[in-house]
Formats: sequence, C-alpha cells, structure tokens
Amino acid sequence: MKITDEIWEVIKDNDKKLDNKLWYGVATTKIFCRPSCVSRLPKRENVSLFDSPNQAQNEGYRPCKRCRPMDRIVPNEVWIEEIDAILNEHYDEALSLEELGYRLHGSSSYLRHVYKKIKGITPQQQLMTIRLEKAKVNLLTSNDSISEIAQRVGMANTPYFIKVFRQHYGSSPNHYRKKYKK
Ligand SMILES: [Zn+2]
Repeated sequence: MKITDEIWEVIKDNDKKLDNKLWYGVATTKIFCRPSCVSRLPKRENVSLFDSPNQAQNEGYRPCKRCRPMDRIVPNEVWIEEIDAILNEHYDEALSLEELGYRLHGSSSYLRHVYKKIKGITPQQQLMTIRLEKAKVNLLTSNDSISEIAQRVGMANTPYFIKVFRQHYGSSPNHYRKKYKK
C-alpha cells in the first residue's frame, strides 16, 4: 500500500477515521501504530502501511505500547525487554529518557515508572551500568586513552566518566587498568 497525501494527513492529525482500516510501521523503531497514534510524528520516508496488524508483525514490527494496535495491552515485561534491547545495542548514543520514550512510543515518565517498578532501578541507572561494564572491558583489552574509551561508551564528558567510574568501582579508570590489565 502506498502512502498518499491523504493518509499522511490522517497520521499527522491523529485522525481516527482510518483506525482499524490500516496500520503504519516506522522503519527506524520497528514499531507499528494506528493512524491516530499520538506518538511523535515519524519521517514520512520511514513509514510503511499495512492492511492488518498481522501483516505488520510478519514484517518484524512490534505493536506500539501507546495506541495498542492489536487491541491488546503490551505486557510490561515485554516492554522492559524492548527497553533493555535498545539500551544494550545503543548505549553509545545519547539516550535520554525522552529519546527512549520516542523510540518505544511511550511517554518518558511512564516508561521510567514501569521500568523502575519491574527492575528496581531506572533506565538511566541501567544504561550507566552497561556503559561502565563496556568501559571496563575496553580498559583491559585496549591501550586506548581514557577519553577515547569514555567517548566510545557514550560518555563524552571524560571528567564525569572518571568520577562515576570511581564511584562505582572504588578506583579511577587508570588505576583499574594498572591493577588488572595483564
Ligand atoms: Zn502508537
């Protein structure tokens, strides 16, 4: 199905008139929605249309948490897995709560609330843990500078990286490297 100007207007206006007639997926997030979904408007060139939710799923898209295109609630546990998958794959990018909310089609405050309720920590805390663990591996397996490693794990601010590393592991990155690198 080709996306016409008329359909694009419906998606842009969160109009309900095409709900249950067609669904759209966003290539960059691999999430599909009802035309009326209030999530942030995707770029038109990233949008594909589907005749049914099943078609969207068959093409590898996941139902949006917000507009529930399958008429089913996406279980929180499934949503958490999706959040973790994004954190694990994209930890080196600027992943603010707002950005996570955008990628997962939920409000950022609700996303934080659900994540904390189920995992006991916030998404940002989990992201920090992933970054520090990756940094540790980098320290032990490369000779790259601390600032290069900080940058690589998504923490461009080196002094801040050193401070947080020390808080977590009780020694500076340099000291940690001297102690454990063979
Ligand atoms: Zn949606």
